[in-house]
Amino acid sequence: MVLAELGGSITRALQQMIKATVVDEKVLNDCLNEISRGLLQSDVQFNLVRDMQINIKKIVNLSDLAAGHNKRKIIQQAVFDQLCQMLQDPAGKLDQLVPKKGKKPSQVVMFVGLQGSGKTTTCTKYAYYHKNKGWKPALVCADTFRAGAFDQLKQNAAKAKVPFYGSYTEMDPVKIAVEGVERLKNDQNNNFDLVVVDTSGRHKQEAALFEEMRQLSEAISPDLVVFVMDASIGQSAFHQAQAFKQSVTVGAVIVTRDGHAKGGGALSAVAATKSPVIFIGTGEHMDQLEAFDVKPFCPASVR
Ligand code: GDP
Repeated sequence: MVLAELGGSITRALQQMIKATVVDEKVLNDCLNEISRGLLQSDVQFNLVRDMQINIKKIVNLSDLAAGHNKRKIIQQAVFDQLCQMLQDPAGKLDQLVPKKGKKPSQVVMFVGLQGSGKTTTCTKYAYYHKNKGWKPALVCADTFRAGAFDQLKQNAAKAKVPFYGSYTEMDPVKIAVEGVERLKNDQNNNFDLVVVDTSGRHKQEAALFEEMRQLSEAISPDLVVFVMDASIGQSAFHQAQAFKQSVTVGAVIVTRDGHAKGGGALSAVAATKSPVIFIGTGEHMDQLEAFDVKPFCPASVR
């Protein structure tokens, strides 16, 4: 089920509840079961769905609600809040994912994703975004697989006026990453607080790619691993995200190419990695990266 359909099924479940003459325990249960069915069909993990149900029942607590309370509104609000929570911060760890400004030693953020997902572009956008908010970022190109990857990063970095590290001759991505991260972390003149590492991709999921990501992650011990996915891949996002999660500790997701049209993929990536979507890429330009707002993903009727 893609998100548009999921939105529809949640809306229908809520409408049934609103239409009921009396909102009692049974009506609430039917509504929550219907919503849960839709989420499960969208590949959202069972645990997340179960927790959502438990939380909503705790918040709503029908038996304690005094007469005069608008139960329908309270239920709608609770459903909306829980859906937001599930997408935005499924493990309650969003705070830890924001690098700390001025922190020493510099924090290292490693980007992973398939080739063409928008990884290199997003790395620069991410560095640029933080630069504009007062961080001192730098970039490392550890993509030795794709010809021209270093040139692309160099050009982007120059446009963003963000310092970078890479090599035309070294073919070992682990060596480049380790050297780049060490050099930038210990740069006394520039005092970088954020080192963003771009990595290789492949056209499809391959054992060699995952092994490379595992080795890289082990070598540079990133503070955060960001999984970059193209919104248009839809439901295959679940397996793709899961495959990366098995080789590195993915902590956050960035959805490129808008993401709003086929949000089901984003939802699946969140479910597979138990990590929140932190940004959305909305275009090819440097400044087209937006901190993720969950509202467009939730059906309008619940807002
Ligand atoms: P990589 O192979 O994963 O490093 O992907 P690239 O960063 O080279 O991006 C592939 C293509 O997608 C490039 O033409 C980018 O300009 C484009 N791209 C990347 N992110 C976005 C985005 O958020 N929106 C749009 N419309 N295009 C993007």
